[in-house]
Amino acid sequence: MTKIAVAKGDGIGPEIMDAVLHIFTAAKVPLEYEVVEMGKWVFDKGYSNGMTPEAKQTIETLGILFKGPMETPKGKGVKSVNVTARKTWNTYANNRVFQTLHGVDTVFSKAGIPIDITVVRENIEDTYGGVEHMLTHDVALSRRLITRPGSEQVIRYAFEMAKKKRARRITCGHKANIMKITDGLFLEVFYEVAKEYPALKADDVIVDDLCMKLVTRPDTFDVVVLTNLQGDIVSDLCAGLVGGLGFAPSANIGDHICIFEAVHGTAPDIAGKNIANPTALLLSGIAMLRHLGLMESAAIIENALLYTLEQGVHTGDFGNKAIPALNTTQFADAIISNFGKQPEQGAKPIIANLPRTQTHFKLEKNEMMETKDSAPELIGGVDFFIESNEQPIAIANKCMRHAGVKFKLINISNRGTQVWPTGSVYTNLVNLYNARFESLDDRPLNQQDVLGLYISLSGDFKICSSELLLKLGEKKVYSLAQGQ
Ligand code: NAD
Repeated sequence: MTKIAVAKGDGIGPEIMDAVLHIFTAAKVPLEYEVVEMGKWVFDKGYSNGMTPEAKQTIETLGILFKGPMETPKGKGVKSVNVTARKTWNTYANNRVFQTLHGVDTVFSKAGIPIDITVVRENIEDTYGGVEHMLTHDVALSRRLITRPGSEQVIRYAFEMAKKKRARRITCGHKANIMKITDGLFLEVFYEVAKEYPALKADDVIVDDLCMKLVTRPDTFDVVVLTNLQGDIVSDLCAGLVGGLGFAPSANIGDHICIFEAVHGTAPDIAGKNIANPTALLLSGIAMLRHLGLMESAAIIENALLYTLEQGVHTGDFGNKAIPALNTTQFADAIISNFGKQPEQGAKPIIANLPRTQTHFKLEKNEMMETKDSAPELIGGVDFFIESNEQPIAIANKCMRHAGVKFKLINISNRGTQVWPTGSVYTNLVNLYNARFESLDDRPLNQQDVLGLYISLSGDFKICSSELLLKLGEKKVYSLAQGQ
C-alpha cells in the first residue's frame, strides 16, 4: 500500500483533515498515512523553518505530502512553512482548479454561465524569493527573480496539463508591458513552449485586463498560467467566481515531491468550532488520489461530494440559509452516506486504477538547471545605486569625475525615472539614485574595471547595491529609465 505524509496543520487544519481522512477510510482508499510535525506549534518548539528534521526526512522519502493550512508566527522574523515547503522541494507548479459546483450558488451559476478554469501559478520565484533589503533608511528593495529554466518548468507543466484536460485555450497572464525584462522573459518562454503544442490555442493577456475579463466572461478562459504573485492574486479572484475559498483546491507539483493542500488558510476566527468547510481540502485530496493513479477511489468520493452539494447539503459558510447548516463532521458523514450515488450534473466516470505514479526518488545532489544560450554574455556597463540627498546635477558632476577612461556616465535616475541629463523638477526624489555607467568606447568591460569604478565612486558616495549591465551578443538586456 502506498504511504503518504500527512501534516494536519493549524487552526481549522486538524478538523478538516480528520474529516477528509474519515471519508478516505470509509471509501477504503488504499493509502497509509504517516503524520509529520509541521506548523506553528513546531515553530514554537524552536524549529525555525516550521518542521522537524524527521518530518523533512519522511516527506523526502515518501514524496507526497497532504497538508492542512499552517500559520506563520507573526513578528518573529520566521518565514512561512507553506512557502518553505513549496520552495525547498521545488514544487514549481501550483495547480488550482475552479469549477462550477452545483449546489454552490454564485452570480454565474444563477446566470447559467459555467466556469472551469485551471490556474497554474509559478511557485518558487518572483517576489516570493523573499530577497529583500533596506538600502537606505527610506528605501526598501525586493529582488524579483524570474528565470528561464524556472519559467520553462512551470509553463511546460501547464501545456502538458492543458493537453490532458483537452483545454480549448491556454492563456499567459503577465505585465510584460511594464516589466519588460522579467515578465518579458516569462512571456517569451511561454511562446517558445507553445510552438511544441500547435493544436492548443495559446494567447496572452495583460494581468489587469485578465482580471476584468475573468469577472465579466469567466467561461471564455480554460487554462491560465502566471508568475507567482500575479498567480496568487488571480487564483483568489477565481475562487471568488466559484463560491469562495471553501471550494478552492490546490496541488503543488514538482518532479520528485508533490504537496496537496487547500488554497485557504487556518481560519482562526472559526477554529476549534467544528464548523469549517472541508470541501477544498477534500477536492485537493481527490486530485492527490488521481495523481497517485487511484482513479476509482477519486471518482467514488467526488461523485458523492457533488451529489451531496446538489442536494443542498452545506456547512455554515455557503448554501441556502433556509436549510440548516451541518458541522464539519456531519458534512463528512453526509458525503459518506452518498457513496455510490451519481450527481445529476457532471458525474465523474469511474476509471479503473491506473498504475501509480512513481513517488520514491533518491537524489544524490542538487540539480543545476541551466539553459544554453549561444550568444556571448558581455559586460557593457554598471548601475550603481548610491545614497544621496543632493540634487541630480551635483551627483552627476561628482560621478563624472570618477568615470575615468573606460566609462561614461549615461544617466541618473530616481525610483526608475530619469532625472539627469534631462528630467523635470516636478519629479519627487528619494535618497537613492541609480547612476548608470556604460563603456566609453562600447568595448566590453571586465569585473576589474567595474571594481575600479566602485572603489573610486565610494570615495564620494555610499554604494548601496550595484548591477552589471549585460549584453547578450549585441542585445542590451537591462531596462531603460523612464524618460531615457
Ligand atoms: P483564511 O483563508 O484562513 O480565512 C479567510 C476567511 O475565510 C475567514 O473568514 C475564514 O473563516 C474563511 N474560511 C477559510 N477557510 C474556510 C473553510 N474551510 N471553511 C469556512 N470558512 C473558511 O485567511 P487569513 O485569515 O488571511 O489567514 C489566516 C492564517 O492562515 C494566516 O496565518 C495565514 O498566514 C495562513 N495561511 C495559510 C495558508 C496555507 O497553509 N497554505 C494559506 C493562506 C493563509
